[in-house]
Amino acid sequence: MKKTISTSSLRALVAEAYDQVKSATGGANADYIPYLANVPSDLFGIALCLPNGELIEAGDTDYVFGIESISKVHTAVLVLRQSGADELLAKIGADATGLPFNSIMAILLEKDHPSTPLVNSGAISACSLVKPVGNADAKWQAIVDNMTDLCGSPLVLQQELYKSETATNFNNKSIAWLLKNYNRIYDDPDMSLDLYTRQCSMGVTARQLAVAGCTIASYGMNPVTKQQVFPSALAPKIVALIAAVGFYEHTGDWMYTSGIPAKTGVGGGIMGVLPGGFGIAAFAPPLDDAGNSVKAQLAIKYITQHLGVNVYGGDSIEITA
Ligand code: GLN
Repeated sequence: MKKTISTSSLRALVAEAYDQVKSATGGANADYIPYLANVPSDLFGIALCLPNGELIEAGDTDYVFGIESISKVHTAVLVLRQSGADELLAKIGADATGLPFNSIMAILLEKDHPSTPLVNSGAISACSLVKPVGNADAKWQAIVDNMTDLCGSPLVLQQELYKSETATNFNNKSIAWLLKNYNRIYDDPDMSLDLYTRQCSMGVTARQLAVAGCTIASYGMNPVTKQQVFPSALAPKIVALIAAVGFYEHTGDWMYTSGIPAKTGVGGGIMGVLPGGFGIAAFAPPLDDAGNSVKAQLAIKYITQHLGVNVYGGDSIEITA
């Protein structure tokens, strides 16, 4: 069914979602990265960005938090921009693992590539593919510039978070070297891991993530800066990656209930994409057992369910002024 919704009704819906969800309990801050354990648990924000650049927000949408695994989407976009869709598929893959984000088992089970750039192994592998190979500083600059392009404004490295992650990323170290063992990493493993750790430690706001989500929803056109960040033909590729594994082993449940592809991070953020529609982000630190923000999930689902939107064939909405 085709539905028309005014921006003011959408504004009211976002405010209602915020009120309904703000006192939800359950979950706990990530504690395997010490820095994240100390972020105030009651922070909560929702931001929705429309293709005309308009932002609809409620709560703590300008609080800077760790982007964590949502950065995997950004760097997957960078690899797509630099090397194209075929290269990403051949060197990394586009499959769901059905296992937790940091699974070593997933690497052992895969025959020839790490599955997807949206789990830790594939994300470290993606960092190794970023050009120019062999030059850590230039690779980092490319990662940062690409994040800025997608979010429409610069992100800032959270030094404390970076230190905290670097001091405790033993599992990711194992992943990087296991990838090396299977020839699934394409630059120095320690350097690739460090780039991954740094990108996860970038500080971002829900507002910036909503803009990045809307850039993907708008086929590569950043709604705020109006920059064509990536060729429109790459948009379905990045959406397919997110839809396959954005919630790791719970992606099926998420797609079934929310109807839109979204990517989570253990910093408490979730970035959702309704292709041709809008970008949406929510942030609240307490996570469920799989490392996904409890309130951010509820907030995004509240909005998509009330709108009836769904990439598998829900209502199509036209947003009017
Ligand atoms: N930096 C975190 C890690 O590698 C990111 C995990 C996540 O957000 N799911 O463990």
